[in-house]
Amino acid sequence: MGSSENKFDLIIIGGGPAGYNAAIRASEEGLKMALFEERALGGVCLNEGCIPTKTLLYSAKIADSARHGADYGVKVDSVSLDHAAIIKRKNRVVRTLTGGVAASLRTACVTVLRESAKIDGRALSGEGFIVSAGGEKFIAKRLLLCTGSYAFIPPIPGIDEAVTAGYAVTSREILSLSSIPPRLIVIGGGVIGLELASYFNSAGSDVTVIEAMPQIAGATDSDISAILLRNHEAKGIKFKLCAKVTSVRDGTVTYESGGQVATLDADLILVAVGRRPKTDAVGLENIGVRTNRGAILTDDACRTSVPGVFAAGDCNGKSMLAHTAYREGEVAINVMTGLRDTVDYNAIPAVIYTNPEVADVGETENSAKAKGIDVKTATVPLVYSGRYVAETEYGDGILKLVVGKQHNNVLGVHMIGPCASEIIYGAAMLVAREVRLDELRRAVFPHPTVGEALREAAFMIK
Ligand code: NAD
Repeated sequence: MGSSENKFDLIIIGGGPAGYNAAIRASEEGLKMALFEERALGGVCLNEGCIPTKTLLYSAKIADSARHGADYGVKVDSVSLDHAAIIKRKNRVVRTLTGGVAASLRTACVTVLRESAKIDGRALSGEGFIVSAGGEKFIAKRLLLCTGSYAFIPPIPGIDEAVTAGYAVTSREILSLSSIPPRLIVIGGGVIGLELASYFNSAGSDVTVIEAMPQIAGATDSDISAILLRNHEAKGIKFKLCAKVTSVRDGTVTYESGGQVATLDADLILVAVGRRPKTDAVGLENIGVRTNRGAILTDDACRTSVPGVFAAGDCNGKSMLAHTAYREGEVAINVMTGLRDTVDYNAIPAVIYTNPEVADVGETENSAKAKGIDVKTATVPLVYSGRYVAETEYGDGILKLVVGKQHNNVLGVHMIGPCASEIIYGAAMLVAREVRLDELRRAVFPHPTVGEALREAAFMIK
C-alpha cells in the first residue's frame, strides 16, 4: 500500500448512472479518480432495467399498433412477436450503450477497475479513506458511494424455493427468457410489474397482476391509475387488487383478498414488489456511515454522515430512479469541489413506459392535501389536442394540472397518453421554477402537439 498509483482524489464505488455520470463530471474538474464496478458498467439501468425494458416495450408497441392498423386504414394480415429476436436486439442495444459508457470513461481518463470494492477504514495519515479491492489497497481523499439497489424478495412462504427452482424470477432474469411463458403471474402492480405485464401480454402470455393495494401504479394520481387499469384490462391483462400473496408452491400462487383465499397457477412468476438499497457489503460500518433500513442517509447535497463521503443513486433509497441518480452524482461532485448545489426532490418526473404511457411530476391532489396545501386542478381530456385525435382512435388519455391556491403556481402535472414521457420534463421545469399560471398561459406551444393540453389546462383553471 502507499504507492502513488493507488492514491486518488476520489474513489467512486459503483458504475451505474450515478457513478459513471459523476466520474465524467469529476474529470472536468481535474480530479484523479478510480471507479470500481463489480458487475457491468451502466448498472441496472443499462443492463437489466430502463434500457432493456424500453427495448422490449418498443417492439410490443409496434405490434400493438399493427394489430390496430385497420383503424388507421393500414391493413396488416397477421402480427406476432419473435421474442428471441427481440431479446437479441435488446442485447445489441445494451452492448452499444454500455460500450458508449466505457468509451466516455476512457476519454475522461477515469481508472475503471472491474472489482468488488469495500471500505476498510480511514487512512492513518489523515489522507482520507482506505478501500480494498481485488487483493489491493487504495486510498482516496473522498468517496462517492453509488452501489445501487437489488430486487426485493419478500418473506412469502415458498418464494425462496421458487426462485431457486427458477419458476419465480425478478426483473433481472425475466429479461433474458428465451421463450414466452404461456401463463405469467406478476406479484406487484408497481412500475416494474406493469411495464413487464404490458410487454408479456403483447407478446402472447396470459398475464395476471396481483397487487396488495386498491390501485395499481403506487402513488400515481388515482384517476390516471384507473385509466391505466382500464386500458390494460381491455388488452386482456387480469388484475387482482387488494390481494396479498400469502404463499407460492409448485407454480401455484395463493393470495388473500377481502377475507377470501384463492389460488392461481402459472408457468412463471415475476416478483416485482420493490427494490432495496444495496449497502450491506460496502464496509459502511468501518467508517461510521449512517443508514436507515439499509439506505445511506444523505442530505439534499448528497453528503453522508461522514465528512468527505457522499452517496448518490438508489443506495440512498430516496427516489430510486436513474435520472435522479444522474443528478445526485452531479450534485455530489459539485459540492465536493466547492460549488453550492442541491437536488430538488420536489420536481423529479416519473414515467411508466406502458402503452399508453404515464408521466407525472410534483404534487397530486392527494399528496397536496396530505401536506395541507390548498390546490385547484384542471383535468383536460387529451381529445382536446388535434394531434391526439389525429393519431389515437378510442383514446381516453388525460392531463391533470395541479396549481397552488396561495401563489397560483404550478405544483404538479400528471398525464396518461402518448408522448407523456417526452412532455413531462417541461412540466418538471414549471414545478421546479414555481411558474405562475399567468406565465404558463403566455407560453407558446407548438401546434399540433399532445403537449398543448397543458396550455388548455392552464386556461381552464379559474
Ligand atoms: P414498486 O414499489 O413500484 O411496486 C411494488 C408493488 O408491489 C406495490 O404496489 C406494492 O403494493 C406491491 N406489493 C408488495 N408486496 C406485495 C404482495 N405480497 N402481494 C401483492 N402485491 C404486493 O416496486 P417495483 O415495481 O418493483 O419497482 C422498484 C423500483 O424500480 C421503484 O423504485 C421504481 O421507481 C424503479 N423503477 C422505475 C421505472 C421507471 O421509472 N419507469 C421502471 C422500473 C423500475
